Amino acid sequence: MHARLPPVAGAGVRRKHLAVGPYRSNTLRWALGGAALLLLADLLLVSVLLNEREQALNRGRVTAQTAASIILRRAEGLFDTLDRTLYAIAEVISARDAPPARDDLYIHRLLVRLHATTPSLGWMNVSDTQGMLLTSSLSFPAPQLQLADREYVRVQRADWSQEMYIGLPVITRTLGTQVIPISRRLETDGGRFVGVAAAGLKSEFLQSLVDDPIPSEGLIIGIFRNDGRALACLPSHDACPDAPMNVVERANDEHADSALVSNARLMGTSAGVSALHASQQYDFFVVTDYPTALLLATWHHNLPIYAVLGLGGNLALVFVGLYAWRQVSHRLRAMAELAHSNVVLEDRVQERTEALARMANTDVLTGQPNRRLFMTEGARLLTLARRHHHPLSLMILDADHFKRINDLYGHAAGDAVLRTLASAPSTVLRKSDIFARFGGEEFAVLLPETTHEGALEVGERLLDAFRSTATEHDGEHLHVTVSIGLAELAPGDTDLEALLHRADTALYQAKEAGRDRLVSDRPTNSEE
Ligand code: GH3
Ligand code: MG
Ligand code: MG
Repeated sequence: MHARLPPVAGAGVRRKHLAVGPYRSNTLRWALGGAALLLLADLLLVSVLLNEREQALNRGRVTAQTAASIILRRAEGLFDTLDRTLYAIAEVISARDAPPARDDLYIHRLLVRLHATTPSLGWMNVSDTQGMLLTSSLSFPAPQLQLADREYVRVQRADWSQEMYIGLPVITRTLGTQVIPISRRLETDGGRFVGVAAAGLKSEFLQSLVDDPIPSEGLIIGIFRNDGRALACLPSHDACPDAPMNVVERANDEHADSALVSNARLMGTSAGVSALHASQQYDFFVVTDYPTALLLATWHHNLPIYAVLGLGGNLALVFVGLYAWRQVSHRLRAMAELAHSNVVLEDRVQERTEALARMANTDVLTGQPNRRLFMTEGARLLTLARRHHHPLSLMILDADHFKRINDLYGHAAGDAVLRTLASAPSTVLRKSDIFARFGGEEFAVLLPETTHEGALEVGERLLDAFRSTATEHDGEHLHVTVSIGLAELAPGDTDLEALLHRADTALYQAKEAGRDRLVSDRPTNSEE
């Protein structure tokens, strides 16, 4: 091939098909975004749940605190009344400045009167320094009874302070009910110990203090002596723990809670919120306790609903996410396919354009460049040569007596010979030369950077090549020679036509001179 076709813009460049990368990373982004959203929604739900739980516990704490403080005030009020009752006896004895006598009618009547006006009491009595019963509100004369072994007498004889003593609940045989004995030390004005005044507080009375204002269902309440022994409990006295309460620390502040009582749980071992309020006046404290299971009953009841809501929310989010993802991915895929088919289409158009350009510039019979290409490329090279003052030569070749071939062997043979003629110069010409079929049995060669002398040499070699080339057709060896007209670019040649015209004239001369030769547009030294 002696002339290269001019490159068509974009020829041979295949655009990369749309990559799937962005599509994949979109999927990943969707998945991550969806998971994050789910996590956020679930965290929100869990935090709401935990908050609800904490609020329920707080409500329990407030209830426990309030109940403890109310019951403490009530019990203190009751013990105040009883203290004043015992104090009334102590006042009388103290004023006499002598130990009470056995079966003292005045004291007996005082006891009966006080007992009658204090409904919470089961009995009242006075004993001497040795613990012998002197007077009782229940009978006159009082039975001969030694009370020295009773706790409420023993502590007073052993010099219990001036305060009222509160004993542990005991069953009084004569009454058949449980009482809490209370006692006070009797002294003369001079401070001499002269006996003990005591009363039996009906347990049920203290119990009713606790029972009456049931502040809340399930709340456990206990009234304890400071040594941890139980005086009364709710729901019933049976609820009181057998073992003494182990009180680590007692505080009367609003924030007293389970931490203040090491085994604040009054019943069982399950967890709960507790409050402890201790009396500043008397030897007792109040503990309230709310089992967590009860406090959180509603919360636990609602838990499955929350779980279903959460699960439903999750599923809804997943479905919505999947649906949206499907929609977007479908659209993305469609866009990618469209872009891809556009690229394919553009490539096809490109190929067609290239093929058309090749066809327009190629001679159909020989496959060599045609006159059209020769004229365009020739004009371009001529302009270049003129601009840089470089040499340029042009030859027109015409087959000799070609008509005879057609006449003698047929048109097909003529075509075959033309194809042979078109391929013969390839061994002689350079790649930069342009060889074209000009029309009929005529060819043209443009030799850039070639002087007249150089062109003469090329022309002679071409003549030799044609002479030694034969065409095989139907068993015949057909030989055809060629005549060549040569012209070199002269300063006055402004276009290709001038050059062609001179080459044509030279060709005519070659034919005239006998054919199978080259004639130049200017005489050579050898011809001179
Ligand atoms: P001369 O040496 O003077 O050039 O004689 P010639 O016979 O070659 O010249 P002429 O112009 O008389 O004849 C040219 C012939 O070439 C005429 C035409 O039929 C034949 N020819 C032109 N093109 C083709 C072609 O494509 N195929 C074939 N087979 N013949 C062709
Ligand atoms: Mg001709
Ligand atoms: Mg001819």
